[in-house]
Parts: sequence; structure tokens; C-alpha cells
Amino acid sequence: MIEVSPVPIFTDNYIWVLHNGRSAVAVDPGDAEPLRQWLQQKQLHLAAILLTHHHPDHTGGVTALLADRAVPVYGPPDIGVVTHPVADKTRVDLADLALSLEVMAVPGHTLDHLAYYSAPMLFCGDTLFACGCGRLFEGTAAMLWQSLSRLSQLPDDTLVYCTHEYTLSNQRFALAVEPGNPQLQERARADALRRQQGKPTLPTTIKEERATNPFLRCEVPEVVVAAQQREPDAVKPVDVFATIRRWKDGFR
Ligand SMILES: [Zn+2]
Repeated sequence: MIEVSPVPIFTDNYIWVLHNGRSAVAVDPGDAEPLRQWLQQKQLHLAAILLTHHHPDHTGGVTALLADRAVPVYGPPDIGVVTHPVADKTRVDLADLALSLEVMAVPGHTLDHLAYYSAPMLFCGDTLFACGCGRLFEGTAAMLWQSLSRLSQLPDDTLVYCTHEYTLSNQRFALAVEPGNPQLQERARADALRRQQGKPTLPTTIKEERATNPFLRCEVPEVVVAAQQREPDAVKPVDVFATIRRWKDGFR
């Protein structure tokens, strides 16, 4: 039985740790010390590291973690600390957890961005967030739209483990796009309560994201109309997506 636990680091990152009571696999350890302490407290040994993309808040802890022991580091080939480069449709076999994950290339936030999927778990880094998506640092809107479309086709019950606790601020924006979405209103209330209680709002599910995340809803009339009020020539879903991504970039 595999459990997935968040180890909070920095102001709003989570290192997701998959573990079975003995071995652990860490996704995007941006910082080593909090993870090391957590593993020690749970008496788990680190068996592997998965990286989604090259940003330092996702990779910064790897070198320090490797100082203790050599563990395989799976990730995009452009990251120096990666020992096992992977790409779209390759598989990561984690013998310690008896788990095999499928690698999905999901460029947009960065060009090298990968997601790891083993039903029902999806580790998607900074691609898909709860009620939001990553910023376009390297790729085009069309790339990220395609990546998100691929993730949104995963089964309803897929658990989305993204790296950042951005949910409440994403929901403020989502409500500006779709003020009349009752599921979004309800979700924003429930998540605000979770944060007040100090609990993570993650993981979310693909079903919830399809119902409340404007970036997956670029074909829904209310979202299209909201986009066209800003950029009237946003007609195709990819253009609606590009419009609301630009809108979000300047949203406070
Ligand atoms: Zn990033």
C-alpha cells in the first residue's frame, strides 16, 4: 500500500513523498533538510528522486540528498543532477515501491517539463495547479494548452499532486473568469476553510479541475465570453486559453 505525503518547503512548495512504510520516493525536492528530517522521523529510506523540470525550487535539494547515499534521480535530460534521463512514454520502475510510472512530456511552463502518472496518481509539477496552471516561462500558450488537454483526458478520479499551494489565489482569479460557477464557489469556500485549519488543499482530482479550473474550460461558453470581453478575437479554445493566461499574469 503506497501512501503519498506532502513535505512543505519554502513558502508554498510541497515535496510529495511516496512511501510504503520502508522506502520513499521524493518528487521535486527543492530543499534537502526538511525532507531528510521527515524521512528520519518516519524511519524511511530514500530510494529514488523524481524531477519534473529544471527550476531550482524543484531541484535545489538533490545534491545535498545525494551526499548521504547514491539514489537514482529520474528527470529531464537537461538537468545536471539527473542520473536516469526519461522522456515522453518511457516508464520509471520503482522496484522498492513495486510501482511503475508513465512519463508524460507536458511542455509549456518550461520546455523540459515532465509529469509522472500511475493511476490514480499524477505528479505534474508546475503544469496543472488546483484551479490554475503554470506560467509560460519557456513554452508557448499552444504548447501548454496541449499539455493541459492531455492531462485533462486522464480518468475523473486521477489525483493531481502539483507542487504549489496556490489554490486560494487561483480561485480568486477563477471566480473573476466564472463568477456564476456554483461548483467553483463551493470549492473556494471549502478550500478557504482547509487553509484556515492549516491543511493542504491538495491533491485535487481531474474531475474537480474539469468542473472548476478555467484553464481546462476554454470551450465553456461563460469562459469564452469572459475571454472575449478582454480580447474579442479569442475564438478557438487555444486562443481563449492564451487570453486568460495573459489575464492571469496581470491579475492581482
Ligand atoms: Zn517551475
